Amino acid sequence: MTPDVRDRAERPPRIDFSNGAAGAIPESAWDRTLRLIGKADEIALACHVTPDGDALGSMLAVAFVLRSMGKRVVASFGDRHFAVPRLLRFLPGQEMLVPPAEYPAAPELLITFDTSTFERLGLLSDNAARAREVVVVDHHPSNAGFGTLGLIDATAAATAVLAEELIYRLGGRLDRDIATCLYAGLVTDTGSFRHSSTTPAVHEMASRLVATGLRTDEIARELWDRSPFAYLKVLAAALDRATLEDGLVWTYITRVDRAAYGLPYAELEGIIDIVRRTDEAEVAVVLKEDDQGSWQVSTRSKGTVDVGAACAALGGGGHHNAAGYTSHDSVEDTMTAFRRQLRKA
Ligand code: AMP
Ligand code: MN
Ligand code: MN
Repeated sequence: MTPDVRDRAERPPRIDFSNGAAGAIPESAWDRTLRLIGKADEIALACHVTPDGDALGSMLAVAFVLRSMGKRVVASFGDRHFAVPRLLRFLPGQEMLVPPAEYPAAPELLITFDTSTFERLGLLSDNAARAREVVVVDHHPSNAGFGTLGLIDATAAATAVLAEELIYRLGGRLDRDIATCLYAGLVTDTGSFRHSSTTPAVHEMASRLVATGLRTDEIARELWDRSPFAYLKVLAAALDRATLEDGLVWTYITRVDRAAYGLPYAELEGIIDIVRRTDEAEVAVVLKEDDQGSWQVSTRSKGTVDVGAACAALGGGGHHNAAGYTSHDSVEDTMTAFRRQLRKA
């Protein structure tokens, strides 16, 4: 593989999945995807609700390439209150996004990104149910295998890794905008290259992306190093009521906490990363009440416990060390149910 970006434009490299996943996606699945894309005039793209950097970044990167191939592209996510989270507003390509209401009702070809279940498409799940073909690009071990065709590799560090391969296979090349979108996915899902998923192949991909001239410093600042003042106040309340019990550290943030300071729900994403620092805990949990009054439960493990399995059993999903689900119960009942699942995990 050559590290030279210009070279690669003429000669797309074979992606080297040095994590041992080479060939995890059968060639026949890639071939069929390229055929479906080849014959579609309009392609609908979707990612999971309340998108993170991997979901939105992977989708927009592929959207750029499909658009440059002359395809009509619509991209969206199925949130009732459709808005790109502030953290991700720096991503290029947002003019390609449409709200769910303007999304094609029955797309000929729909491609999903970073989405492990039909339900994670939110309002767009109806559109997906009516689509003729649904290609699922994802890396969640808990992926339910929905859709008509899966490009699913649970060993990929991010969906962005699979999006990059799709781009090369489409004959696309990386420019700075595309690379910025893919990089957002890669840094988000590897926790800034800290998680165990950070293989040599991940760093090689980062090298290809950074070589386009993207600003790693600006991206890092947008993603992690800024927030409104209100965040400090809500964080303080969350930390103040953090509880440590038998290797589990947990806390919760209510709608009322946020309303007191006018803090949007999406700003809560980083709190789990502070809570999970706790030396005395193997598992960390943050319950976040969304604007509809449901609890979005974020869970993290340091490795010995499979929180992905626990969350999947509770109707959610995710990875071994990072997973989540939605609860409509009280804080107490939610934690009781989670503790019960942990004992089984
Ligand atoms: P989060 O705690 O929101 O950062 O999510 C951690 C991981 O869990 C991500 O990989 C998500 O895709 C997954 N996840 C979070 N919430 C849900 C949910 N309600 N259903 C399925 N997977 C989820
Ligand atoms: Mn995601
Ligand atoms: Mn992901």
